[in-house]
Amino acid sequence: MTAIGVDIGGTKTLAGLVNAEGKVVSSREAPTPSAAGPDAVLATAAELVTALDTDADVPVGVGAAGTIDHVTGTVRFATDHLPKWTGTAVADELHRRTGRTVVVDNDVNAAALAEARYGVGRDHDHLLLVAVGTGLGGGLISGGRVYRGRRNAALEIAHLYVGATGDDVCGCGRTGHLEAVASGTGIAQAYARASGEQTSTREVAERARAGEPTATEVLDHAGDTLGRALAGCVALFDVDVVALGGSVGPALLARATAAFEDDLFVAQTDVDLLPVALGANAVVVGAALMAVEGLT
Ligand SMILES: [Zn+2]
Repeated sequence: MTAIGVDIGGTKTLAGLVNAEGKVVSSREAPTPSAAGPDAVLATAAELVTALDTDADVPVGVGAAGTIDHVTGTVRFATDHLPKWTGTAVADELHRRTGRTVVVDNDVNAAALAEARYGVGRDHDHLLLVAVGTGLGGGLISGGRVYRGRRNAALEIAHLYVGATGDDVCGCGRTGHLEAVASGTGIAQAYARASGEQTSTREVAERARAGEPTATEVLDHAGDTLGRALAGCVALFDVDVVALGGSVGPALLARATAAFEDDLFVAQTDVDLLPVALGANAVVVGAALMAVEGLT
């Protein structure tokens, strides 16, 4: 395989040339001009692809935030992290700007495929990836393939009901959903309610490390809820391994692992919850794989 993978996130766009071993051999990155709208976002992505200076027939795979119609390469739904992104014809527009074959999928799907093939799920065909950042995203590899559901909107794990209190409002506006508890936003909200102080999730994690009781309690609840929800996902999907990533993932890993192991179904106690292995390159590698292998 030689292909270009592009990771279009709310703050940063990363493009990389990926070789047959799944290694990124060269890369370019730039801030995503989210506020300037889809045209500017796509122009930036096209410039990064062109700057990699590869043969014109090297295909491009894109992993982008939002619910993606992978058949048409358009964005079906996206949140305000990428304003006006909904409806954008990413594949057609990038093809027009670069002259290359372009496929597009959701970024967490791409990361899950990369982790299953080259990362923590190497040699496993069944992997669930959960990315805990500002929000919460999931991707499932089943039998070596991305599990998409009917609308390519499967594994919207953010909206799993976990019986939270009415104070925990999810990004979708409802209450009781996992994202309202076990995400950067949920953790910051819970800490603000308990302490009366607005601060960042990173600061909450640092205070918990320093032993502050309120921060510890908030992270304990988030990690415990996440771990038990993920054990439930194993009961549903019967994966080999669950990979935990995202900027907030490391702060929750130990707490989530204890709850996960406590709650695994008896026939599945050999399943591990592990940190992701590919780091910041996962979406690029997975998107490049999709460019070569197609979106099956
Ligand atoms: Zn929700």
